[in-house]
Amino acid sequence: PVRVRFAPSPTGPLHAGGVRTALYNYLFARQQGGQMLLRIEDTDQNRYVPGAEEYILDALQWLGIEIDEGPQQGGPNAPYRQSERKEMYREYAERLIQEGKAYYAFDTPEQLDDMRKRLEAAKVAAAQYNAITRTEMTNSLTLSAEETKARIDSGDPYVIRMKIMPKEDIRFNDLIRGWVVVHSSQIDDKVLLKSDGMPTYHLANIVDDHLMGITHVIRGEEWLPSAPLHVLLYRYLGWESTMPQFAHLPLLLKPDGNGKLSKRDADLGGFPIFPLEWTDPVTGDKARGFREEGYLPAATANFLALLGWNAGTEQEMFSMEELISSFSFERVHKAGARFDIQKANWFNQQYLKQLDDSAIIASLIPLYQDKGIEVSEAQIVQIVHLLKDRVHFVKEIVTESVFLFHAPDTYDQDVVAKKWNEEAVNAISGFKDALAQFEGDFVAHDIKELLSATMESLGIKMGKIMQALRLAVTGAGTGPDLMITMEILGKAEVIERLENAVD
Ligand code: GLU
Repeated sequence: PVRVRFAPSPTGPLHAGGVRTALYNYLFARQQGGQMLLRIEDTDQNRYVPGAEEYILDALQWLGIEIDEGPQQGGPNAPYRQSERKEMYREYAERLIQEGKAYYAFDTPEQLDDMRKRLEAAKVAAAQYNAITRTEMTNSLTLSAEETKARIDSGDPYVIRMKIMPKEDIRFNDLIRGWVVVHSSQIDDKVLLKSDGMPTYHLANIVDDHLMGITHVIRGEEWLPSAPLHVLLYRYLGWESTMPQFAHLPLLLKPDGNGKLSKRDADLGGFPIFPLEWTDPVTGDKARGFREEGYLPAATANFLALLGWNAGTEQEMFSMEELISSFSFERVHKAGARFDIQKANWFNQQYLKQLDDSAIIASLIPLYQDKGIEVSEAQIVQIVHLLKDRVHFVKEIVTESVFLFHAPDTYDQDVVAKKWNEEAVNAISGFKDALAQFEGDFVAHDIKELLSATMESLGIKMGKIMQALRLAVTGAGTGPDLMITMEILGKAEVIERLENAVD
């Protein structure tokens, strides 16, 4: 069975790229009837940020990404936090040493620095700890067995490094990129176990993927350079036959396409790149979240799914179920995907249109309260009807409806210049008088009939005065349906506004 994992490090809020990785994992797992694991990769104590794990869980839940096994759910491979599995990793590093595939290294930071400087001076492209340089360093390959043992026994700090054999091609078939071939001379003797006894990302990731029976590793392209090393580790550990398949997802690019989208863009661009709002535990700085900005979870998931994937048809609107059935690696792009917030807004608008009025109404009530606007539920029903199709966000309904609660104190001067003339004033005065006489139901349809009958008797073409009428009622030259607007305002208020305008 397919088993995939989302393996974030709790170093801060997940950004859009991380969420998309989780989403693709989820889509593939569900489609294949497999399982989705959440593993918290928290072996780097220095980068641990309190609150990040809860944030990740909340974000996935908000988007509708369901986890089958994880720190909250438990499961056959518990624990699912690497910090709680720390004892397991050393055994594998030591096994590699016994088999001559890894070694102890005692170099101090100063020695490593020296080596780097020497190599840089000699203009060696990338300073590496490898088959050539390791012979000059302090490790169990250059020291005798007795010396090595003596150093370990005396408590000298050491790391365990993987011994990369030179002159080897490492190849693997990426589900998105096809064959990837890397020469082993480009990989250095990566540290597997750190001096504090903690595994590095590479060791922990491979050991856990193996022990947890992961079949597909679906992750961001930034991990592609590590993949050959991972392939080698599977080989060294004798796990090559059950090695997972790899799928490296395209980068998310900045909105202008210039470079990779980064966490910093949240502040620069003024748009959310995090699913949920995030408060930095140290500085207290707040970054915006899709949820708090008013994006609907289904719209957000749809938007993210299409960053780097398409169904190969014209279809853009996908429910989670549809995403699950249509997802495929063949249709994941290799090129980076531009993070286009306008597109997210468009999706939100589409989903908002489909939303039940009752849901919109329920979320509007507190928003009006926050603004100190007194409005009845019956009025909100009318306002939703008036504005629902014109906005991208529920909260926009509130800002767009403010004119209903405040008579205009200014008028759009462009429209005044073009449309405010004697004929308009006559028409509006006539309509105002007709309204004062009017005794029927004050509803949009009847208001319109009254208006057209009045204009006919005055011999004025409706089309010529409509914008002036709107101006008189709302202060603006454009806006939502004017008849419904008047219905919501009520007869007395409309008459008052018309009076003010012609005065
Ligand atoms: N802990 C890594 C991260 O933060 C996991 C990468 C992987 O999926 O292998 O993204």
